[in-house]
Amino acid sequence: MTAKKVTAAEVEKSAIIIDTHADTPQRFVDEGFNLGDPLNGGNLNLDSIQKGNLGAEFFSIWVEPTLYKGHDARRTLELIDSVKQQVTKYPDKLMFVATPEGIEYAHRTHKFAVLMGIEGGHSIENSLALLRQYYALGVRYMTLTWSNSNGWADSSGDIDDTSVPHTKEGLTEFGKDVVYEMNRLGMMVDISHVSDRTFYRTLVITRAPVIASHSGARALCNAPRNMTDDMLRAVANSGGPNSKGGVVQVNFFSGFVSQAYWDAMKAQAPERQKAVDEAKARAAADGKPFAYPDEEKIQRSYMDKIPRPPLSMLIDHIDHIAKVAGVDHVGLGSDFDGVSGQLPEGLDSPADLPKITQALLDRGYSAEDCRKILGGNLLRVFREVEAVSKELQAEDRPRITEKQPFDKVAK
Ligand SMILES: [Zn+2]
Repeated sequence: MTAKKVTAAEVEKSAIIIDTHADTPQRFVDEGFNLGDPLNGGNLNLDSIQKGNLGAEFFSIWVEPTLYKGHDARRTLELIDSVKQQVTKYPDKLMFVATPEGIEYAHRTHKFAVLMGIEGGHSIENSLALLRQYYALGVRYMTLTWSNSNGWADSSGDIDDTSVPHTKEGLTEFGKDVVYEMNRLGMMVDISHVSDRTFYRTLVITRAPVIASHSGARALCNAPRNMTDDMLRAVANSGGPNSKGGVVQVNFFSGFVSQAYWDAMKAQAPERQKAVDEAKARAAADGKPFAYPDEEKIQRSYMDKIPRPPLSMLIDHIDHIAKVAGVDHVGLGSDFDGVSGQLPEGLDSPADLPKITQALLDRGYSAEDCRKILGGNLLRVFREVEAVSKELQAEDRPRITEKQPFDKVAK
């Protein structure tokens, strides 16, 4: 503990605050929302970014799997484009970057670093070629699955659904190739959303440390999307023998933060689903489209009835992960604009991020530890993923599955 008491503002001045998950791109595409606009029911805009000193955001490229079935790549590209359009629109405020140095450079030049991560391996449509091209467009992490299993990796969202085909061991041979190709490219492997078996299978084979871009601790809130203490330690120990380990970026969603909220959400699920199904049927009868925003509106009206957990509960997750996995292995993955506004009390946008810093200081975390949690840990992992990528590119290892179009012919 330092003798001199530091303030949250002082810590933030010397930190680069990095958030690894915001679903704002759907607003860009579907609502014509621009970052310069007022929040209007959303969580993230330029004003709130500046107020909260947020330095970098990984915008989530998430393709709703039913709605865009058969057009995953097209939707993926439209979302990627929407992020780049925002950077074009606000060139004096935003900077598109794809490296740790880029994040630091943007910070030094007082610009907000814009990055991208894909949420859900279905975006690659079973093609390593697509994966490589997403990397070329600047995508720097991919969650192997979203809530849907995709044939080569299983999701915690449907692992108990026997009507969904699952892999035998968590990853198919192609799935292992995907992980290897991500390691080789320097794209962070994100294990948020995957089933426990897929998680462990991935950790056995990955050559680089992994991230959980937006997950919490299962010991505090027993949701399958959260991670057990053993999994938290496994992320901390992920990567090769010389690795400094991965990082778990804590999700702010009330349902993953608070057990009481999670239970209440489960209890109202049948009623909520009924309302969605009825609205869907009404739209079909009227010949009107029923898109994700329509469903989300109904879901939100139900979840708004559940009391918000206190902010201290979110801090409990950070604290728990720091104690179980180590302070070098925890960070922030808000899920802003992806949780229908269901966030702990007083946490509505990046403008409220200083409250997290203050709460950590109040609990005795040093300025140095705060800087790690706010972004330093993620930067370390990002750097190591790039270093491993350089090693693997020198190796030229053959893939397990059938030859991909751009691979060399084996002798
Ligand atoms: Zn998610």
